[in-house]
Amino acid sequence: MKFFKKLIDLLFPERLTCNICGKEVFDDAYLCDECAKDFKLNDGYTCPVCGRKTNLPQICLECKDRPPLFKRAVSALVYEGNASKLIIAFKNGKTYHKRYFAELLAEKCRQFEDADSLCFVPMTEKAVRKRGYNQSELLAKELSEKLGLPLLKNAVVKNRETESQKTLSYRERAENLKGCFTAYKGEVNGRSIILVDDVFTTGATAEAVIKELLKKGAKCVYLATIASVEYKIPL
Ligand SMILES: [Zn+2]
Ligand SMILES: [Zn+2]
Repeated sequence: MKFFKKLIDLLFPERLTCNICGKEVFDDAYLCDECAKDFKLNDGYTCPVCGRKTNLPQICLECKDRPPLFKRAVSALVYEGNASKLIIAFKNGKTYHKRYFAELLAEKCRQFEDADSLCFVPMTEKAVRKRGYNQSELLAKELSEKLGLPLLKNAVVKNRETESQKTLSYRERAENLKGCFTAYKGEVNGRSIILVDDVFTTGATAEAVIKELLKKGAKCVYLATIASVEYKIPL
């Protein structure tokens, strides 16, 4: 029995203990009750364009002011509390979280009925070597299997490293990302693509990639991210 449990643990490490605190859980729960309290699925009201959680059933002001380049976006979790911890773990070696994230995201991506393929926000070769993988690529691969759509592995590349964007405004981020990505016409021309990324905050990075995809002939681009920040519409 002990051996069997160890084997399962090896194959499916995410199914026996809480994925935040490591406490034993039952019934395949992903998190223990305590950690689940500070963990928000992105359900309830969401902006019909950018997919972020909102407090009212209407389009958020940012999408109204500056219509995004993607046709629509979805995300599975609200980027705060334990959801952000889970994503940080995913970027720091716990690659098996891709299965859980893809499971949640596949459900939402099925509404993109005319989507015919997927691609992901690339990292530079150097950055991939350093981490050992690109988390968005792992997730996109998992999603492509779940949705039965091809993954365009060579759709777009990142040409150079960008400085940390944390303190920059949207406009500064866009400037910082200019010429950073190159998409390949032969891969993306005429396609309706779901672009996969880990987190949606200002959307500047995804927009830079989408701009390039559209320039190279993509018909339309949807965006799927694990988590996005909540947008509160001022009352
Ligand atoms: Zn826990
Ligand atoms: Zn919006």
